[in-house]
Amino acid sequence: MTLKREVGLDILAEKYAYASDPVMGFTSAQKIPDRWVATTCGYCSVGCGIMVGVKEGKAVSVRGNPDHPVNHGMLCPKGLSEHQTIDTETRAKYPILKRNGKHLRVGWDEALDTLVEKFRGVQQKYGPEALGILSTGQLVTEEFYTLGKLVQLGFGTKNYDGNTTLCMASAVSGYKRSFGSDGPPGAYEDLEKADVILLLGANVADNHPILCQRLEANKNKILIVADPRVTKTAMMADVFLPLKPRSDIALLNGLIYLLIENDLVDRDYIARHTTGFEALQESVSKYTPENVSQITGLSKELLVKTALLYGHAEAPFLGWTMGVNHSTKGTETVNAINNLALVTGNVGRPGASPFSITGQCNAMGTREAGFASSLPGYRKFESAADRKELATLWGISPDRLPTSRGLAYPDIVEAALARKIRALWVIATNPVVSFPNLGVLQQSLETLDFFVVQDGFHPTPTSELADLVLPAAIWGEKEGTYTNSERRVSKVNAAVAPQGEARSDFDIFLAVAEKLGCREELFPGWREPNDAFEEWKKISAGRLCDYSGLDYALIEREGGIQWPFPAGTTEVTTTRLYADGNFQTEDGKARLHPVEWEPFPEQPTNDYPFVLNTGRTVEHWHTRTKTAQVPILERLAPNAWLEMNPRDAETLRLRPHVRVDIVSKRGRTNGVELRITEMIAPGQVFMPFHFAETNVNEVTQSAFDPISREPNYKQCAVRVEKTPPGVGSATGRKLFGRKSVSAQERGQ
Ligand code: SF4
Repeated sequence: MTLKREVGLDILAEKYAYASDPVMGFTSAQKIPDRWVATTCGYCSVGCGIMVGVKEGKAVSVRGNPDHPVNHGMLCPKGLSEHQTIDTETRAKYPILKRNGKHLRVGWDEALDTLVEKFRGVQQKYGPEALGILSTGQLVTEEFYTLGKLVQLGFGTKNYDGNTTLCMASAVSGYKRSFGSDGPPGAYEDLEKADVILLLGANVADNHPILCQRLEANKNKILIVADPRVTKTAMMADVFLPLKPRSDIALLNGLIYLLIENDLVDRDYIARHTTGFEALQESVSKYTPENVSQITGLSKELLVKTALLYGHAEAPFLGWTMGVNHSTKGTETVNAINNLALVTGNVGRPGASPFSITGQCNAMGTREAGFASSLPGYRKFESAADRKELATLWGISPDRLPTSRGLAYPDIVEAALARKIRALWVIATNPVVSFPNLGVLQQSLETLDFFVVQDGFHPTPTSELADLVLPAAIWGEKEGTYTNSERRVSKVNAAVAPQGEARSDFDIFLAVAEKLGCREELFPGWREPNDAFEEWKKISAGRLCDYSGLDYALIEREGGIQWPFPAGTTEVTTTRLYADGNFQTEDGKARLHPVEWEPFPEQPTNDYPFVLNTGRTVEHWHTRTKTAQVPILERLAPNAWLEMNPRDAETLRLRPHVRVDIVSKRGRTNGVELRITEMIAPGQVFMPFHFAETNVNEVTQSAFDPISREPNYKQCAVRVEKTPPGVGSATGRKLFGRKSVSAQERGQ
């Protein structure tokens, strides 16, 4: 504080001055920019168009882009304050190398030389697969495409995956198994056209707020919400299905049973466009209303009402998010959703679709262009024809392409623990907060010979552990494209220069390739993200996710365009997949997969009597690396909390807002504020997962979907204890020197 301020002579006139602006009206003078830059929001997969106001080289304001087809000018609280994430104290500004246990600033040259020398050293000693890479859903598509080539063809390892496996992998696997390919069939417009909308495990009011606005704009719909918790979305429902945790497969099978019983299935569509109906009919025959009522806790009347509403609808929409995916049965639950849509012929019609609402702003981009769960362009690792086609396009031998996918995220962590992976490159993600059963992750990172973190922020709980930190440009500082949940490709533009010496991830990947000696082979003449985009267009041509008719100028002009958009397309319209009933399988027919309900893996016991559910809140994003830097968001939700039903609180003699510890077989989260609320059913508790200081992943389990490898974050058995006096409200986790976690505690 200045002397003038201290003695009361400085009234901060400049700070509080107001002025008029033709776009923003009468507002704070500080927020009035010199120019506006059109871009796309960098948080969630809704993909809102956003304008960043720039004044004297700094981002000073944002507003929704009124011309963008997704949000028509609206933004949620995170979007409305996104410019405040750019210039913060916590940004990574310089390369940092650990020497003698200390993080020291170094130049880019030394940082990149070290990375290549260490990675190559590990690979020469232990084999190419001793290098693992964990990436994200938040780079631009051009960066994912570049990284995939660099990892697979430059470093020659297939052990590459992204944090998308922690949120969307089950949707990907489910789509592949049912339809022969990844790719959500529907469009956001369907939320406005549907007459019945059934949301399963999808709290869009908190997690996809602008989609919620579009849903609300549809005044003719009946909204059905299935969720064990009375979420904000559940409060909007016409019909609420408060089902028991993880009973959704029984619910879906029960609905199919009732639809068959009431002759509300589309037998013509089933015959022409699907296989496996007889087996499905047989498998759902035991999901009678009586049985399903017992498993789900829903009344028979409610089940029948839901089935009839869905069965008689002209255009029913099925949407889901993490309530479905975060499970050992995630892929199969997606198959059950797809089954319901297929037997009623509700795929790819206006208003009617089984629609996975994705998490991160560009999770779709990495699914399309990356190397993790598929080869670029949704090509299959296992298909010799796909490998040959891709190799021909690249002018390389097909032998350089893997015949199966590499290790998935949790298996990379386990392989590091087993000393099979010796070096790890983590890009734009924060696993020390986000990975389940953190003790395992902690040990695995401690065993590495060399650990690199590339991120826009430092220190984070993960970058603190790194041997090398590469500072990356973030949203607002770089260019490329994002693809949102409805397959809409939108342009991302730089509003300001990167902080300090930070570089875009695209530039970092090219610089690594240069040091590795493969830049001209893999990326000939590339200088700008558009060079990657132009090559990606050729690679995607003729595939389901065909970008070949797109270019940056056209995307900018339209605000965003859905794929497929083959070369020669003249009209920009809403697109849906499989409208003709022709799927991406060998015979063109969709597969109906019978799936069975089972109890979730860790059931409550006398010692651990509660089922813990985890999730998100509207104010924060992932591990709060960004949103904790935005004062208004941080003030709205500064701490984690635990929701508990009043009856349970009474039994435990706990009063509102006391501090509690949450304890599982694996660990303990200390000092969490207790919220007593009817939003949660007796026997269940809920805690948001964003908070490193009181981290719910201390207690979550190592249980993964066997097909998608997505973690079962949603249900584990815990007990709740009053925090002893003297223990702080947020003790946080100790990052170093953690006790060993046995294989049994890891859930193996
Ligand atoms: S809904 Fe998602 S994309 Fe839209 S402003 Fe909010 S965080 Fe950004």
